[in-house]
Amino acid sequence: MPPVEFPDRAWVEVDLGALVRNAQACGRRSRAPLLPMIKADAYGLGAVPVARALESVDPWGYGVATIAEADELRRAGISRPILLVAPMEPNARVIKAMRAARVTPALGDATSIRLWMMTGAGDWHLSIDTGMHRAGVRWDAVDSLADELRSCPPSGAFTHLHSAELDDGSMQVQLDRFESAVARLPVRPALLHAENSAAIERTSPSAFGLARPGVFLYGVPNGGALVPESVASMRAAVVDIHDLNPGDTVGYDATWTATRPSRIATLAAGYADGYRRVLGNKGTALVRGARVPVVGTVTMDMTMVDVTGLACERGDIATLIGPDGDEVITVSDVAAAAGLSPYEILTSLRARLPRVYL
Ligand SMILES: *Cc1c(COP(=O)(O)O)cnc(C)c1O
Repeated sequence: MPPVEFPDRAWVEVDLGALVRNAQACGRRSRAPLLPMIKADAYGLGAVPVARALESVDPWGYGVATIAEADELRRAGISRPILLVAPMEPNARVIKAMRAARVTPALGDATSIRLWMMTGAGDWHLSIDTGMHRAGVRWDAVDSLADELRSCPPSGAFTHLHSAELDDGSMQVQLDRFESAVARLPVRPALLHAENSAAIERTSPSAFGLARPGVFLYGVPNGGALVPESVASMRAAVVDIHDLNPGDTVGYDATWTATRPSRIATLAAGYADGYRRVLGNKGTALVRGARVPVVGTVTMDMTMVDVTGLACERGDIATLIGPDGDEVITVSDVAAAAGLSPYEILTSLRARLPRVYL
């Protein structure tokens, strides 16, 4: 590989090797073909490069949330099935766009199924609600779709788990409901799937025909037996350094005050890059192998860190997310400091940050 040209301000590094190894770990554990979820631009990391890398694990297909996301993958030459997991308003325009992008829709109501049937049918998956109450037909109401299911049988059926990571028994309740619903379908679909990342970590082998990992692929663990490798790193250059006297303050609203002579480094990334404002006086960065605190408010384009005692210089590269030497700031660490979910930290990484693929 030619040397990677790094941008000079701030960027996101995506370790595609780690991504593929995380997918392989899911496959080894579930022993089922994968349906990697690459919705929301692969959780912010770039759907097309992520899909191209995952081709090496021979997935069954990919999962997206919008027709535009499917369309982008088709334009990039991805030819596997693309499951559109989110429900859509069932009208002719939407169906036409779905067919143009060759998506496999997830349907869960009579109107949508009839429209799909009348406009040419083709592969679709039945979305069964087993307790999340967000999308799909209730597990105890599948009989109400018996006519539609007989005329236009789905090629797959699936449900979505709401709390597999809590180990609170809810996963088994949902899976039992799913199985009872599937047993009542006029024809048993060839493909059944239910497991998200948290469920894959906790189940081996899978009881189903496909497994649907998402966040695990991108390096976020869910407390189970399987731990992913870090995939996403956010780096920012040190672009200014200030020596402060005791009593000097940092940033908007002067929320941090030096209590000793201090050396403050300005990093070229802020909340408009996805480094959330709430991390002011809470986040940490890795600079020259040391863990240093964010001081003052995170601003739109810059974030300040306290590098007192370090031989930090302009042009140094700081890590806000990811590994640096033996140290690592995980997406989960950032999420915990921010009081947000790791999913939000990943999907908040803004387009302004170039993605560098390793
Ligand atoms: C996003 C999503 C997943 C993946 O969830 P993770 O928690 O990221 O593993 C699986 N199934 C459906 C239907 C989803 O929307």
